[in-house]
Amino acid sequence: VRPLSERTEHYRRVAAEIAPELERLADETEQHDEFPWEAFHLLNDHGLMKLTLPKEWGGEGMSATDYFPVYLDVAKVSGAIRMLIHGQNGIWRMIEGFGSDAQKNEWLPKQVAGAVFAGAITEPGGTGRGMTTTATRDGDEWVINGEKQLISFAGEAILTHVFAATGRDEAGAVLTCFLVPKDVPGQIMTRMPPSMGCRGSTHYHIRYDNVRVPHSSILGKQGDGLEIALRTMLDISRISIAYAGLAISQRAFELAVDFAKNRVTLGKPIASRQAIRLSIAEMATDLYALDSALHDACRRFDAGESIIAEAAATKLLGLETAGRVTDRALRIHGGVGYLESHKIERHYRDARALWFEEGTAEIQKFVIAEQVLQHGLTF
Ligand SMILES: Cc1cc2nc3c(=O)[nH]c(=O)nc-3n(C[C@H](O)[C@H](O)[C@H](O)COP(=O)(O)OP(=O)(O)OC[C@H]3O[C@@H](n4cnc5c(N)ncnc54)[C@H](O)[C@@H]3O)c2cc1C
Repeated sequence: VRPLSERTEHYRRVAAEIAPELERLADETEQHDEFPWEAFHLLNDHGLMKLTLPKEWGGEGMSATDYFPVYLDVAKVSGAIRMLIHGQNGIWRMIEGFGSDAQKNEWLPKQVAGAVFAGAITEPGGTGRGMTTTATRDGDEWVINGEKQLISFAGEAILTHVFAATGRDEAGAVLTCFLVPKDVPGQIMTRMPPSMGCRGSTHYHIRYDNVRVPHSSILGKQGDGLEIALRTMLDISRISIAYAGLAISQRAFELAVDFAKNRVTLGKPIASRQAIRLSIAEMATDLYALDSALHDACRRFDAGESIIAEAAATKLLGLETAGRVTDRALRIHGGVGYLESHKIERHYRDARALWFEEGTAEIQKFVIAEQVLQHGLTF
């Protein structure tokens, strides 16, 4: 067992205190599939939404190594609850990293007070350098046109970080990030259909129909968009998604072991059967590998090292681990595991979101290959 800082121990106790209420809210959210405001406020009121935010902005300024054990406890409850703490403890990085003093003073205190922010990159017609949403300058204003999809919490957010093409070079769209408040004319949000898992995590389609924003709403400089997305957010967000994989895997493992010890066939608990034991051993090995890799990636991040390859590798390991472990855990439950009455059913579905958030498995492999071919193995 690794030694934890006092603050980590403190917030883990806080997370344990509110866990029964979070579990109740997670069950409720699963039924109504609406944004879980009560859970959001519970987490916010207990300080869990500002653990990583720097102290000067009213947060706890926790390092990755100190923060993620707390996140892990919360993320084990459900996918939707995990997405709340994942979003709020990450998204501030863009404004804090690239914002002007005026932007930081305007928006960061609002986040600490409990406002939701969103980030809009993904599009129906292309993403990243293939982006088709454009922003065109018109005097002191910019005019945004285009479409986004799968944007988490955009309908609940008071602010969306919108990435749009403001030019083109040989590699494709040159991106700029705009801070676009809710309710600006022409920004039309429509909730997307219900998702397979993480019920209650809302996702929106957004249409930008001649949306006008002042020049001062650009985050950083014109053309900084890719740098903002890649360097302030993406690596640590990938670590966060990998930790979500660890959380789901740990929960699925606990459920499977508990079930295996109690389910009796032919006079013996199935935990005594070799076939089940092999599965349990494989799950435990997966957990150990993921936990160790994540701990190493956090240590490197906290030391200020570049972790591009490590973040992509842990994200890949995280989603594959969550896939394998929830699959094995479901099979150990037998047919009843397929019913909503057993928690494994929900964790199995929640795990599938990890394939996509912060980039698919294929994208992680491109990044890892690019990095190791250029720099060799750094881990
Ligand atoms: C729960 C959830 C929450 C999300 N939240 C947000 C959010 O808040 N903001 C946001 O901007 N986005 C969000 N997304 C979108 C997510 O980031 C994307 O779904 C993901 O990056 C994949 O992009 P895509 O869906 O456009 O897939 P596509 O790019 O259409 O890819 C489809 C398939 O083709 C493969 N593929 C694509 N390009 C290539 C290539 N060049 N070579 C080989 N294979 C390729 C992919 O790996 C994938 O298997 C969310 C998604 C989910 C599921």
